[in-house]
Amino acid sequence: MIITESKPFEEVLEILEGSDSIFIVGCGECATECQTGGEYEVEEMTNNLREAGKTVTGSVVPNATCEVLDTARLLRQQKEEVQAADAILVLACGAGVQAVAEKCDTLVLPGCNSLFLGDTLRHGQMFEWCSMCGACVLDKYVGVCPVTRCPKGQLNGPCGGADEGMCEVDTERECVWTLIYERLEKLGLDKERIAQTLEPPKDYQIQAQPRERIFEVRRTG
Ligand code: SF4
Ligand code: SF4
Repeated sequence: MIITESKPFEEVLEILEGSDSIFIVGCGECATECQTGGEYEVEEMTNNLREAGKTVTGSVVPNATCEVLDTARLLRQQKEEVQAADAILVLACGAGVQAVAEKCDTLVLPGCNSLFLGDTLRHGQMFEWCSMCGACVLDKYVGVCPVTRCPKGQLNGPCGGADEGMCEVDTERECVWTLIYERLEKLGLDKERIAQTLEPPKDYQIQAQPRERIFEVRRTG
């Protein structure tokens, strides 16, 4: 899931400066889970904007705002409300904002900051465990990613700064190599092998942006 945080309301007002009437778009997936763009947050934003003297012409919460064509379809269903707005405020990740902008001639503005791809441990506890490097090497690290979970991305670690198993960069956090070795032990695997293997640097060229994946659709759903 894409993890977002709400922009402070004062910042939202600055972003909306010059726009008196607003249409709000939320997101029924990630932003709902992050409590940044679900039905509740859209209603809250509507009330806050009205209190601040803005006109809210309407709102919609698509299932997943990054689904460009479906979001466009929903916006067409509220064409009048959208056209009555000076700007569309999107309470979703940057992909959601751009999905709306792709299909709308109205000014489209962000109400959230997009933070990272996150694993959810439980409600309200989200962690970055994968940074989508494009060439997964989790097979070499028993399912624990040093690319992402080590602040230095140490593929051949630990770096030497670990203190009693904790990371020198963030002393509140276990060194990812502690996690890797603990897991090797738990699985009864050879710890020496990983210590003796030298992993070559990753090819960061494959992360050159913007990335795309276009493929032949074999089935839908
Ligand atoms: S190696 Fe790490 S960053 Fe790369 S795809 Fe796998 S989990 Fe994600
Ligand atoms: S202590 Fe461990 S997690 Fe922290 S920077 Fe060094 S190798 Fe990475």
